[in-house]
Amino acid sequence: MTERIGFIGLGIMGKPMAHNLLKAGFALTVFNRSQPAIDELIAAGASAATSPQDLAARSDIVITMLPDTPDVTEVISGAEGVLAGAHKGTLLIDMSTIEPDATRQLAATARQHGVALLDAPVSGGDKGAIAGTLSIMVGGEPADFERALPLLQAMGKTITRCGPVGAGQTVKACNQVAVALSIAAGAEALSLGAKAGVQPEIILKVLSGGLAQSRVMDLRGPTMIQHCFEPGFKAKLHHKDLGIVMQTARKYGAVLPFAALADQLFSSLVANGKGDFDHSALLTVIEELAQHSDSA
Ligand code: NAD
Repeated sequence: MTERIGFIGLGIMGKPMAHNLLKAGFALTVFNRSQPAIDELIAAGASAATSPQDLAARSDIVITMLPDTPDVTEVISGAEGVLAGAHKGTLLIDMSTIEPDATRQLAATARQHGVALLDAPVSGGDKGAIAGTLSIMVGGEPADFERALPLLQAMGKTITRCGPVGAGQTVKACNQVAVALSIAAGAEALSLGAKAGVQPEIILKVLSGGLAQSRVMDLRGPTMIQHCFEPGFKAKLHHKDLGIVMQTARKYGAVLPFAALADQLFSSLVANGKGDFDHSALLTVIEELAQHSDSA
C-alpha cells in the first residue's frame, strides 16, 4: 500500500519540500497557518486539511516543518493536534529544528498513542529544499527510519541516521555552530578588507579560491557584499538555534566560546529589528561595531 503523506508548515523550507513529495508521486495532504501556500500546493495536486487533527486522520505519515519548539508541541499535542487525529501505526517525522529534549518528550507522548516519531532536521537552506538536495539528520528507531527513507529521498540527498530519537536534533545543533561561525568569519573578513580599502568582490574571489573557501560563503558571500538580506534563513531562527546550542552545551558540559559570542551578536541583530532578515545580515552587526558599511 502506498503511504498517504500529510505535511504541516509550508514556509520557506516546507513549501518546496512538499512540492518535491508531489513530484515524486506521493499522495499529499497539507496544512499551514497562512492560506497562499496551501492554495499553491492544491494547484500542484495536494489536498488541504482543516486542522492538524484532520490531516493526521487522513495520513499514514505526518511531516512537520515549523519554526520553533512551541509550534511543534502545539501542532502535535495541542487540542486539535496531530495526536488527536492519528491512529496506531502513524509515523511522525518532525523536520523542524527544535530542542532535543522536547523531541524526546514528544516521542514519549506519541508512543503512548501507538505513534512513532523521528526527528529529521535538515541543512542545505532554501536552495537545497528547492533542489531536493538537503542533508537530513535523523534520530529514531531503525525500522521507522527505513519506512521514512523513500520520502526523505524525495527531499534530500545525504540522509543519515544519527542515533536514537533526539540525535538528529543534536547533530543539527552542531551544524548550526559551524554555519554561524562561518558567517561570522566571512563577515569579519569582508569588514576588515573593506575598512582597509579593498573591494569586497576581490576579497570574496580570493578567499573562495583558497583554504578559506566555504559553502556558506559560496552561497551567501555574493548577497552579503550587495547587502541583500532577503531570507533564506531568517536571523531569528538561527538565533533560536543558537539558544538550543547553548542549552545543550550547558547540559553536557561542552565549552563553546565562539558560539556563545555568535549567539550574542545574533541577539543584537534581532534586537535591532532584523530578525526577519537573512542570517548573513550578521555582517551588519560587525560593520556597525566598526562604524563602517559598504552598503550603497
Ligand atoms: P518559515 O517561517 O518560512 O515557515 C514556517 C511555516 O510554518 C510558515 O508557513 C507558517 O505559516 C507555518 N506555521 C507556523 N506555525 C504554524 C502552526 N501552528 N500551524 C500551521 N502552520 C504553522 O520557516 P522556515 O525557514 O521554513 O523554517 C522551518 C524550520 O526549518 C525551522 O525550524 C528552521 O529553523 C528550519 N530550517 C530552516 C532553514 C532555512 O534555510 N530557511 C534551513 C534548515 C532548517
